[in-house]
Amino acid sequence: MRITPRAYEVKKVVDILEDPTFDSPEQMAKAVIKEVGDMLQMRDLYVLVHTWADGSKGLNMGPFGAVAEAETFAKKMSFGGTGRVVPITSSGVILANHDGKTSWPGYCWNPECGHSPTNHAMDGSSRGKCHISVCNCSKFMKDDPSAKKTKKATARAGAAKGVNEL
Ligand SMILES: [Zn+2]
Ligand SMILES: [Zn+2]
Repeated sequence: MRITPRAYEVKKVVDILEDPTFDSPEQMAKAVIKEVGDMLQMRDLYVLVHTWADGSKGLNMGPFGAVAEAETFAKKMSFGGTGRVVPITSSGVILANHDGKTSWPGYCWNPECGHSPTNHAMDGSSRGKCHISVCNCSKFMKDDPSAKKTKKATARAGAAKGVNEL
């Protein structure tokens, strides 16, 4: 399965690799594998549904990270019959909409919340208090607070550079 890593996925793996509390490389490797498995479950993937030339059902093959990957695979294997690329909906996203997901784009970044925006009450044009009864979140946090810091620092560095060039 070919996938393009996304910035927030890279950050989560780096957080594990830089965590000094692991007892052994094996423990760290397990944490990375679990994290990546979790990430893959958050993606909409594709399967290749195959039908033999006589109309009988072939196998459903996959998952693939993209339509093009499934098509390349079908071409390479040249099974005969017909193939159809079918998107599969991420069960991880459906679960996250139901249960919430911490430190993940699209969900509240409050580390004690992680619930979906629709679980938060409307407050003017933004979203306020979380509806989930066990949750104490008082305002939907749209962006990763640690990412914001980096962006600001970069902007500042850029501005400083501009001054130097004058
Ligand atoms: Zn919440
Ligand atoms: Zn929240």
